[in-house]
Amino acid sequence: MTAVAAARSILTRLHEVMASRLHPQGKLDQVVQIIGESLDSEVCSIYLLREGMLELFATRGLEQSAVHVTRLAVGEGLNGIIAEHVETLNLAEAAAHPDFAYRPETGEDKFHSFAGVPIVHRERAVGTLCVQHADPRRYEDVEIEALQTVAMVLSELIASAGLVDEESSTLGEALSGPQVIQGLTLVKGIGGGSAVFHQPRVHIEHVVAEDTEAERQRVYRAFDKMRDQIEAMSNQAEFGVGGEHDEVLQTYKMFAYDEGWGRRINEAIDSGLTAEAAIERVQQRTRMRMREIDDPLLADRMHDLEDLSNRLLRIVSGQLGTAATQGLKRDTILIARNLGPAELLEYDRRRLKGVVLEEGSLTAHVVIVARAMGIPVLGRARALRGLVREGDEVLLDADKGLVHIRPTQQTQDLFAERFAQTRQRQAAYAELRDVEPFTRCGTRIQVMINAGLRDDIAALSLVGADGIGLFRTEFQFLVSATLPQRERQTRLYRDVLEAAGDKPVIFRTVDIGGDKAVPYLDSENADADENPAMGWRALRLGLERGGLMKAQARALLEAAAGKSLYVMFPMVSEPWEFDAAKDVFDQQLAWLKTQKKMLPDQIKFGAMLEVPALAETLDLLLPRVSFISVGTNDLTQFLFAADRANPKLAERYDWLSPAILRFLKRITQATAGSGVDLGICGEMGGRRLEALALLGIGFRRLSITPVAVGPIKELVRKVDLAEITAAMDGWLSSPPVSMRAELSAWADARGIEFD
Ligand code: PEP
Ligand code: MG
Repeated sequence: MTAVAAARSILTRLHEVMASRLHPQGKLDQVVQIIGESLDSEVCSIYLLREGMLELFATRGLEQSAVHVTRLAVGEGLNGIIAEHVETLNLAEAAAHPDFAYRPETGEDKFHSFAGVPIVHRERAVGTLCVQHADPRRYEDVEIEALQTVAMVLSELIASAGLVDEESSTLGEALSGPQVIQGLTLVKGIGGGSAVFHQPRVHIEHVVAEDTEAERQRVYRAFDKMRDQIEAMSNQAEFGVGGEHDEVLQTYKMFAYDEGWGRRINEAIDSGLTAEAAIERVQQRTRMRMREIDDPLLADRMHDLEDLSNRLLRIVSGQLGTAATQGLKRDTILIARNLGPAELLEYDRRRLKGVVLEEGSLTAHVVIVARAMGIPVLGRARALRGLVREGDEVLLDADKGLVHIRPTQQTQDLFAERFAQTRQRQAAYAELRDVEPFTRCGTRIQVMINAGLRDDIAALSLVGADGIGLFRTEFQFLVSATLPQRERQTRLYRDVLEAAGDKPVIFRTVDIGGDKAVPYLDSENADADENPAMGWRALRLGLERGGLMKAQARALLEAAAGKSLYVMFPMVSEPWEFDAAKDVFDQQLAWLKTQKKMLPDQIKFGAMLEVPALAETLDLLLPRVSFISVGTNDLTQFLFAADRANPKLAERYDWLSPAILRFLKRITQATAGSGVDLGICGEMGGRRLEALALLGIGFRRLSITPVAVGPIKELVRKVDLAEITAAMDGWLSSPPVSMRAELSAWADARGIEFD
């Protein structure tokens, strides 16, 4: 008999039992008879979890007097092992297995072969289903598959009959008990809450199909829809918004059109399962195979298939949308493979206490957004989604690069202490709010904030910064489903300027493209960008999309009527691009003049220095600009030729490398005496050790993430500029093995904390 026919004949008979009026115990008794007969096995037994123990609930072939008497601890005996590891066992000689535990009351000593599968409900093992045979033979694959399919049906029966012991159904080694996963700190901080999957798992309600043909059609339609979605992702540059990479997209495509996958799902439907159960059934099989895979590359691809399978499940069951759409109900630690900046912004920041990603890198925009939102983020937490369940208690320690899943009481107590300490430290920083950051030697350092959201404006006075050194105007574009109209832009800029009062705000014109793609700005060119960070983005896009830039120029000029306006252009690579961008503003200004509109009192134009080429033409640029802001996020990726969003490169290059620091030093030297105001606005400036180095090479203006203002002010007050300048000069002319180690020791010796 084929696997399909075997499973189908069992399912048809099971369906009748399930639909019958028998009480749950009676149904289980029938089930073991049917399976035993169908698989030609003398024994078929069901163990269910009750009060933390696996209890023999029904059997054909073992002593009936053992029912509800024989109990096994999780991990004890073969059934205990199946439940603990949520895995299948298929043994020709059961007694030869090291975990075999003989229970005389069952009378099982006559049976040699043994096969068992876990019964899984909501990702937890809630019991086991096993067959035994007198002849020592391994069960065939078709038989094992039939058992696995039946176990899915049983899980539905057991759950609906209330036989699942929810309290203690925390079996499965990986999914029970405390787990600590190490990752890469992307945004420091600590937080706690319940685990919420960004892409919620679909819970399958019905397993056995009423109408097989209808189920087949549902799967066909879902496949079509999924393929459309994937095509749309690649065609409309929407992909960057989701944070995925090209490589992943390619794998998605490969699987979406893989006939084998579709065929296996079809076969599972033929065996009598619903569309949802069939997709899950096939995925379970893949997961089991995945456990045996040692090759990390292949394992990654299997994760891609898992994601796609979940996508298919969501489509087929109509359970669409992310966890943000459903709204967060309590303090939450968000779990995802990766996220796009726009996706993160959809979450309620009051309830979002942390984000843990399987991928992620330090300067990806989603991380910058999280930093701006004050949300700790841990990245590179591999295999995370296999170790945590929706609703699990999670404590995130992004300071130490750890996430505690289902933490012990001791860990919880330690965290409670740390939460209290953090509150204390924040209170201490808050005291620095009105303190001006002078160095020990008396130089005033400008400490400004990076912002982009309406909510960020409040941070300005909260942390006592000198102004907004970088207002990322594209954030408004990212959170919007359609291109924000000029009036909406004007309103936002006006509100920002009003809230900032006398403090300067440097508006950066839109930096869309790269990993900040917006779906509504489709473009011939962006489609073709194989490397969007170096492609048609920021000013390059702005200058060609004249309408976009003109609208923004008008919005900014009108919003700043009667005030000072600072405008900064991103990704300037050659000085003429600055001229062309400024020209757009000049034209709008001239037009407003003809309309007798109120104009800004003064307008200052500046450029971001984030493309290395610009540093080579500073002599040409300096006479044209009022200020320059170095964007170390992009600058670093271009200097090292290392994609800032590529998780594999996340830990590879250090900001405190001689290459970067020497490059930056040349910029401070070239700018000195020009009258052009120079600052830093990359993430680097908000880290204490990096900020120390930047002060040492001549930077006097740092625009940083709001939460870093307190710590950086405190640092500034401990620094003697002559001393750190001399030290940096020495290290840069003959670099030590580790600049970071040297700087740390230097800071340590002066009582400067840097963590
Ligand atoms: C930078 O590149 O350093 C920068 C500040 O801009 P963004 O991170 O928005 O690209
Ligand atoms: Mg940049």
